[in-house]
Amino acid sequence: MNNIKTRLFNTVNEESLKESADIIKGGGIVAFPTETVYGLGADALNPNAIEKIFLAKGRPNDNPLIIHIHNISVLDKYVKEIPSVLTMLSKLYMPGPLTVVLKKKDIIPNNVTAGLDTVAVRIPDNEIALKLIEYSNTPIAAPSANISGRPSPTMYEHVVSDLFGKADAIINGGKTRIGLESTVLDLTTEIPVILRPGGVSYESLKLILTDVETAYSFDTEKPKSPGMKYKHYAPIADMVIVKGKTDDVVRKINEISDEDCAVLCCKETYERYISNNKLSAGSINDPFEIASNIFQCLRLFDQMKIKKIFCEYFEMKDIGEAVMNRLLKAASQNIIKV
Ligand code: AMP
Ligand code: MG
Repeated sequence: MNNIKTRLFNTVNEESLKESADIIKGGGIVAFPTETVYGLGADALNPNAIEKIFLAKGRPNDNPLIIHIHNISVLDKYVKEIPSVLTMLSKLYMPGPLTVVLKKKDIIPNNVTAGLDTVAVRIPDNEIALKLIEYSNTPIAAPSANISGRPSPTMYEHVVSDLFGKADAIINGGKTRIGLESTVLDLTTEIPVILRPGGVSYESLKLILTDVETAYSFDTEKPKSPGMKYKHYAPIADMVIVKGKTDDVVRKINEISDEDCAVLCCKETYERYISNNKLSAGSINDPFEIASNIFQCLRLFDQMKIKKIFCEYFEMKDIGEAVMNRLLKAASQNIIKV
């Protein structure tokens, strides 16, 4: 599935959104912005269209997709039960970077959910995404709009670089606001389980749910969320996370890096690195700034043809937990402790 004609919608208006919706309705695949990262969307009720997403991304078939709806009122068409806790959660985070896993109805094709009897659903907090779903008049299944395994796309240029010739259309929505994927929360178990950390923090969910478990680790034999077993978000370069007191981390990285290496750090330490290939992801005191920049930094290192990246372990709260989850996966859990 290479070299199909990709329409590039640089200007977003009613006309280009309606044309994009027509492509979705006709069984095509369209990359579009959300507040988290760009998604590669298809009609969630059309198994042939869904198949195209897996082919274009090179995504393993056992990694299920999230379906995107534009209004909570349509949810009961696709899921068997709506737990009472969802009332409060949806008031706060739908639209928002929260995906909930619920028991699916038969109308959702099996290839959307990789054969599971549950389906992941969210409402994106982005006008372009919401209108596209509304005009398509169907839920849109969409994983991140990158080639499988690569850093998720947070800018239009990232999507064009990965999917030009593979997607039917790409919509330009500028840089995505959050820059990291949604939190995936399983509501089918007695105690809700966070399957993937993301835009809504553990602390925020704990305030509403009182009881909430976490199940994200890289190496579990049988991951609860099928996507967790794959290498993810990875730049071309090898990546190593360096963890310890700030002075020790700076000294160690300066000691072991050479001209083929790069440093991913925060604004506060940037000047202390001797490397010519260094990028700051933002201030250590602003986890949201760092979250919005990390995938872009990883892609910049690829363009710079870097062979090895040394990355600081960012000790941060809130979305910071999701940041480190992504960076550790990008580094295949490769950590040096100093
Ligand atoms: P992505 O589409 O790349 O943002 O990844 C979607 C994530 O949601 C992956 O980690 C999937 O494994 C997870 N997911 C989607 N559907 C389900 C489901 N029914 N049960 C558990 N996890 C799911
Ligand atoms: Mg993804």
